[in-house]
Amino acid sequence: MSNNWNNWSGHVTANPRLIVSPADAGELGDLIRTAPGPVRVVGAGHSFTPLVKSEGTILSLEKFEGLVSHDTGRHQARVRAGTRLGPLMHILQGLGQGLPNMGDIDRQAIGGALGTATHGSGPTLGAYHTQLETVQIVDGLGKLREFTKAGDQDMIHAIGVALGAFGILSEVTLNNIATYRLRRRKWVLPIADMLRDFETMMAAHRSAEFYYIPFSGYAQFIASDLSDAAPTTRPPEEDEAGLRTLRRLRTALAWLPSLRRRLILGAVAKLPAEDYVQDWLNVYASDRQTKFNEMEYHLPYEEGPKVLAEIIALTERHFPEVYFPMEVRTVAPDEFWLSPFYKRPTCSIAIHHDAASDPQPFMRAAEPIFRRYGGRPHWGKMHSLKAADLKKLYPRWDDAMAVRRDIDPRNRFVSPYMAGLFGIEQ
Ligand SMILES: Cc1cc2nc3c(=O)[nH]c(=O)nc-3n(C[C@H](O)[C@H](O)[C@H](O)COP(=O)(O)OP(=O)(O)OC[C@H]3O[C@@H](n4cnc5c(N)ncnc54)[C@H](O)[C@@H]3O)c2cc1C
Repeated sequence: MSNNWNNWSGHVTANPRLIVSPADAGELGDLIRTAPGPVRVVGAGHSFTPLVKSEGTILSLEKFEGLVSHDTGRHQARVRAGTRLGPLMHILQGLGQGLPNMGDIDRQAIGGALGTATHGSGPTLGAYHTQLETVQIVDGLGKLREFTKAGDQDMIHAIGVALGAFGILSEVTLNNIATYRLRRRKWVLPIADMLRDFETMMAAHRSAEFYYIPFSGYAQFIASDLSDAAPTTRPPEEDEAGLRTLRRLRTALAWLPSLRRRLILGAVAKLPAEDYVQDWLNVYASDRQTKFNEMEYHLPYEEGPKVLAEIIALTERHFPEVYFPMEVRTVAPDEFWLSPFYKRPTCSIAIHHDAASDPQPFMRAAEPIFRRYGGRPHWGKMHSLKAADLKKLYPRWDDAMAVRRDIDPRNRFVSPYMAGLFGIEQ
């Protein structure tokens, strides 16, 4: 029987001996002890790096789904780690709770989103892992263990961002907030103005981000702020139609840059400004149908505009095939040892490449720019870093690796890719 597995973009493939979905923590523990290794856990398979790849066993937590318990006064909810963000939003809304922030999509499993430090945007808003109160894992010996922020904050900081290598999360308790409503606005402005006013514009909103539309000279700015106003209709999504236009112009005019720029400008001018009010769960997530591969680096906040200017220059000089907008966000600093936001206010810059063609030349050319400014890669997005590079970027690296050895003394969760990342001899 074939056990083919691939990630969302199709770039990472695996042919493990076993793909299996345990029903409970007992079965999960048995599999960790006895299944062919290495044992890698998958959430929704939306990472672009080979984190989940295994020729031994891929474990899916799709049966670890739903609410376990909640605390209304504290706005806390304990959920099974395989719960997808989409259903999670609705569970929380029903409890009068909301996630403080979200990324672009709601397809990930909460365990997978935590595993790579998945984030949204907002200078005072942390990534999902900063919501962790309690973590229940099954360790590399198949034993159930639980850690709480109140009882053992260091362990929460060590295993909150853990790439599926510090035990398998079975349940987590999240600190949420009371349900809320957002006013979301979108408008277009020249990229030169955006870069000049970066700090004031990004800081002026609860959540702000922007997309640079390549070969246009323009950015689309998106701002979200708390609102008590009555909900209004969310306009239909234009992202996929916009992408189709950008791809058509790329294909027809890649080697006629000035005509391409003029036609893109025409399309950008037609982008409708957006302004609506909705409950939090109807605002953050978009539909992403066109497959791509992505690199995202997390940079010191103040370096963002300089780095983006260099990435734009590189793209427009050497990579006419690129048409996906570049995404720029901010993330609040935190204390998690393997968090790319560790003790650092962050500007995140993401570049994308159509999944139908080889992303490597573009990614390889862009990566040295990100690295020159001290960028830390998104764990779930393309990068080429190995243990020796990563250790320099993470002050608590050695402490984190010691915790990993304690949790997984038999290296059950260590695939060749993970061995390279963590510097483990196999
Ligand atoms: C279309 C698209 C949009 C995206 N948008 C954003 C965005 O806005 N912001 C952002 O930061 N990222 C974004 N990403 C990246 C994505 O959020 C991360 O790669 C995330 O980790 C994927 O979640 P997943 O459930 O698919 O996890 P997987 O990719 O399946 O797994 C990710 C890691 O988590 C581990 N893991 C999964 N479940 C568990 C568990 N129960 N216990 C322990 N470890 C576990 C895996 O072993 C692996 O190491 C996007 C990706 C795509 C494809």
